[in-house]
Amino acid sequence: MKNLVINCGSSSVKYQLFDMATEKVLTQGLVERIGIPGSGIKHTKTGMDTLARVIDFPTHNEAVKYVLNLLIDPIYGVIKSFDEISAVGHRIVHGGESLIKPTLVTEEVINKLEKLIPLAPLHNPGHLQGIFAIMDILPNVPNVIVMDTAFHQTMPPKAYIYGIDYKYYEENQIRKYGFHGTSHEYVSKRAGQILGKPFESLKIISCHLGNGSSLTAVKNGECIDTSMGLSPLEGIVMGTRSGDICPGVILFLMRQLRDVELVSDALQKKGGLLGISGISSDLRDIEIAAQKGNKRALLAQEKLIYCIQKYIGAYTVAMEGVDVIIFTAGIGENGVDFRKEVCAKLECLGVKIDVDKNNCRGKEVIISTPDSKVTVMVIPTNEELTIARETLQCMEEQK
Ligand code: ADP
Repeated sequence: MKNLVINCGSSSVKYQLFDMATEKVLTQGLVERIGIPGSGIKHTKTGMDTLARVIDFPTHNEAVKYVLNLLIDPIYGVIKSFDEISAVGHRIVHGGESLIKPTLVTEEVINKLEKLIPLAPLHNPGHLQGIFAIMDILPNVPNVIVMDTAFHQTMPPKAYIYGIDYKYYEENQIRKYGFHGTSHEYVSKRAGQILGKPFESLKIISCHLGNGSSLTAVKNGECIDTSMGLSPLEGIVMGTRSGDICPGVILFLMRQLRDVELVSDALQKKGGLLGISGISSDLRDIEIAAQKGNKRALLAQEKLIYCIQKYIGAYTVAMEGVDVIIFTAGIGENGVDFRKEVCAKLECLGVKIDVDKNNCRGKEVIISTPDSKVTVMVIPTNEELTIARETLQCMEEQK
């Protein structure tokens, strides 16, 4: 049984084909710049060099068709026919309040996804394009959607409601939703397994720190709060996104720039580490510049560390304690010095880091000392495998 996992962005398609018996990735790749000059594909068959081709992909349909043909290619392919694909799992950024569990795609589900576009204008249209492309090319293969927002749907109203007129929640579903749910769920459950303790018995703070970053408080197996909001802009400062900001700043920008798209760019594409440092959105570049004495790079680095420390403090109180702190995603898995800096201020919570154990990248390691009051762990995330598993489970529930 083989499941294909597709993650369609507005101009990209990421994919992985899993053998579900072994959970091994057979092949994976990325199509970029769909509909933009210079589009192309990078495709890796496990154990072979990466194939990189520049090809004109005007829409997601051509891109998905090309990917599928590569899967059955005599050299770069890994299956003999499309009949070997049991199901396709799609990552969906925003499921709103109506799409929570992994769901088999039907006409009704497509209608729901279309209605959710105002809540996720940058993401959901791309996801729909991907679903339509698969339905067109593989009409007999079931499609399952797995939502980034799903894991956060257990948050209590006091965590998700915003302090504006309640009618915006009732009429427009304006509230905190949270994202990276698949990642937070995966690493939190993995922490329970590694520690040999039921996931439902732990108070966990999961720190997903990549280009986009969020922290989630998981108490007794359920998300009780998360740092991202209605959109993936809220929370800690990110690569190019502002994170938490006084709404007055947005009003100021509206008056100054007089264009919603320019304000959106200022908050989403030109803010964050890039905006503060003026150097880069990539923490590695910021760290190098800060070491060389660049003050704005140092400020960007300090701001990010401070944001994470504050959220950890807030979530510790929200859960009345914390048993486990998890670092995951690009920065969380690889930022050795960065983790040390974040944890330095957490000594007041009884956190003690083992410097040697912390000297690790991209593997599952407990980096706290045995006498630390809080267990601190690095756990590489695996959103695609989670989607493949949930797709399988959803198909089994249909039987
Ligand atoms: P995305 O959110 O796009 O999936 P990733 O999870 O791949 O991003 O994280 C990307 C970020 O990880 C980069 O911007 C970079 O700042 C950070 N990163 C990667 N390796 C390191 C490292 N060794 N030290 C510090 N940061 C790192």
